[in-house]
This record gives sequence, C-alpha cells and structure tokens, in this order.
Amino acid sequence: MASLSESLKDLQELIAEFYELADYTPLGAKEYNEKDMCNIDKGTHAQFALNNILSLNYGYQSVDSGSPWLPYWLTNILEITMNPIEELPSVLRKKLTKFLKNLHNDESGGFRGQISLQSHIASTYGGLMAIVNIGTEEAYQIIDKQKMKEFLTEVFCKVKQEPSSTLKSSEMKVGENGAYIMHENGEYDLRACYCALIIADILGFLPDPDLTEGMSDLIASCQTYEGGIACNPYGEAHAGYTYCGLSCMILLGEVDKLNLDRLIEWAVNRQLEMEGGFNGRINKLVDSCYNFWMGAIFEMVDMATKGKANIDGQWLCSQLALQGYSIFCCQSSEGGFKDKPRKGVDVYHTMYALAGTSICQHKSHFHQKKVEEISEENKEDDPELSEGDDFDEVCILSKNYNNLLARLSPIYNARMCLVKKAKEFYKEN
Ligand SMILES: [Zn+2]
Repeated sequence: MASLSESLKDLQELIAEFYELADYTPLGAKEYNEKDMCNIDKGTHAQFALNNILSLNYGYQSVDSGSPWLPYWLTNILEITMNPIEELPSVLRKKLTKFLKNLHNDESGGFRGQISLQSHIASTYGGLMAIVNIGTEEAYQIIDKQKMKEFLTEVFCKVKQEPSSTLKSSEMKVGENGAYIMHENGEYDLRACYCALIIADILGFLPDPDLTEGMSDLIASCQTYEGGIACNPYGEAHAGYTYCGLSCMILLGEVDKLNLDRLIEWAVNRQLEMEGGFNGRINKLVDSCYNFWMGAIFEMVDMATKGKANIDGQWLCSQLALQGYSIFCCQSSEGGFKDKPRKGVDVYHTMYALAGTSICQHKSHFHQKKVEEISEENKEDDPELSEGDDFDEVCILSKNYNNLLARLSPIYNARMCLVKKAKEFYKEN
C-alpha cells in the first residue's frame, strides 16, 4: 500500500495536470477567464439522477441503513441543478413515495434501511429529507408524527436527575447525556444528534427539553484542541462532525458555547492550496463530499456571527478555487461527480459535491456593508433561515452564469422553500 505522502504526491501531480490542461491554477482562480473551459453540465447531472431514480429498486442494495438516503440524494441533485421535483413526471414522484413508504416503520415510527431492520436515526433523517424534497401531501403523510416522537424519545440519552436520584454527575458516562443513539442499543455520536434535531425541527417538536436537554453541552465538549468538532468527547476533529455540531448549535440557539475563533482557524486550514478543494481532517486527502461538509460550515459561521465572518460577502475560504476543483477534477462528462480523480462517480459524492459548489457560488446574506439594514429587517424573522433565492450577489468561476446552481440552506441541505412548505404542513397536521 502506498503511504499517505506518496498518494498525496501522486494525486497532486494528477490534479496539476488537469489544471494545466485548463490553463488554470487555484491561486489564480479570480483572474480565470476561460468560460468555455468550465461548464457545469447541469442537464447531464440531472439525467444521471433521473437514471438512478429509474433503477432505484435494483442499485445500492448493500447500503442498508442508507436506502432512504437515496431518494433524498437524487431529488436534491435535481433541485440543485434547477430541475424542480414538481416538474418530475408524477409516475416518478409516486415511485419515490412508494419506495419510502415501504421503508417506513409503521410499528415503531421512523425509517429503516431494509424492511427486516429496526428504525435507524440516519435512515429516518434521509427518509424525511426525501419527503421534504418530494413535497406532496401523499409523501408528507408517510410520517406518523406521534410514533416519530416516541422513536426519538426512545433513542435520546438523558441521564435522569430526579431530586431523589443518588447518581452523581461524576458517575455519568462521558458524552452520554444529551446524545442520541443511532438505533435501539446502537452507538452514539454527533451525526445522530444532527439527524434527530433536524427531524424534530421539521416536524415541529421543538423547543422540547425532553428531546434536547444536555445536547449543547455535549457538543461543546466535543470541540477539540484543533478547533473543529469530533464525533464524541476526546475524538479527532472532523468536517462531518463539525458540520453536525455547528448546525445543532445554531438550531438550539447555543452557538456561544463554541469557540468560533478556533473553529474558523481549523476550518480555513481544511482548504488545500494546490488542490483548491477541502479535506475533512488534518493530513488527509482532498475529497469533493467536503465541498458541502466544509463549505456549509463557512456560511453557518457567518450566520452565527451575524455577518462578521465574510469579506465583501464572501466566506472565509476561496469559493472560486472550490468550484475549480469540482469542475476540473471531479465532474464526469457522463454525469455525476467523483470524490477525486481516478475514482468512479457515485450518487453520494454527486449530491455533496454539487451542494457544496452551490454554497460556494453564493454570497453572505449578511454582506458587511448591509449588515445593519439586514439585521433591522430581520428582527422578527430568523435571518439564518431565510429563503435567500436572490441571485444578485453570486460568486461564479470565470463568471459563467450558466453554471449557477440553486441556493440551499446550509443547515438543512435542501431548498429553504421546500423546508418551509413541509414545516407548514406538519404544523397543521
Ligand atoms: Zn467523500
């Protein structure tokens, strides 16, 4: 097996070749002017998603707990590439709905990866987000809210602290209080917290201390000396967990419990100078799924600081260099994205590469010059949850505006109008 430094060198050489062919460098991304060289072929990527929807019953049988994620990833690819699901032939929307209905656990609430398995919090998150994207009443009604709440309560770890309890805090297991487990008797880490909190938020269960008590302290205790957030206390900082932890803190309104300066310092060091893309941990290779897991962190930090983490509207990373990595190194002409050159395309990387590219095409809602006006306007409304489909202020490599992707909410990784629509439904029903 090649050592990390060998594979890094090899990968960097390959990427440098791609960039040379395009006459491009990440550091010169701002001046890059070859419009024709850098197309995001939205139609081909949408077709890739459609083909995968058509064969949904047959592929990816092995991803067990991931099955309900597939309709989410595929519908999100369509939404990001501006092929709205409501324009899908109704037979395909029905197919997706039926696929999800099959995986819903009518007995104990939530979704499972296969009919024979128990409900799993990550499967449930994927299933719900697919429903949000499908956006029909028939799809919304798959969820049994009462059972879902019971399922969430079941997998939430709360150390009982009745006055009569003899349990001392020193006897609690580290990282247990306020955590969610993935499934009954399963493991716990911050992914489960994120999935549970998004579900609870969309279904209108929040605020509810019975579903969140202790969570923000737990997340704060997962921030490491590196600045990022780990899966549980004493772990290694990682893009995915930092994304999950930061999203939760914003939803809980407890972001002050994190050291954001340290978090930003860690985050800016995840963008690689030569590759232009992000890695997810110190000393790891670039990977396009971190386009989103890292890219969204920059926008969320900007939200958390009400616009103090942008420069002229741009995040504290090179948004253009990230787009360059995606376009020149990861895009397949047959549709789909790969994590890095020499790998194959897959649905997961296609969705997260596109989602992160979209995040990095848009500018802050809190443009510093306007921050005062905006915070006036948004006194009532949650500014971080606004729709933001205003394309006036975008940041696109070589100003090729044909490449513009739909704006997403970094917290939900979905179009905010669809999240709002689902929330309204579940509020009433
Ligand atoms: Zn990846």
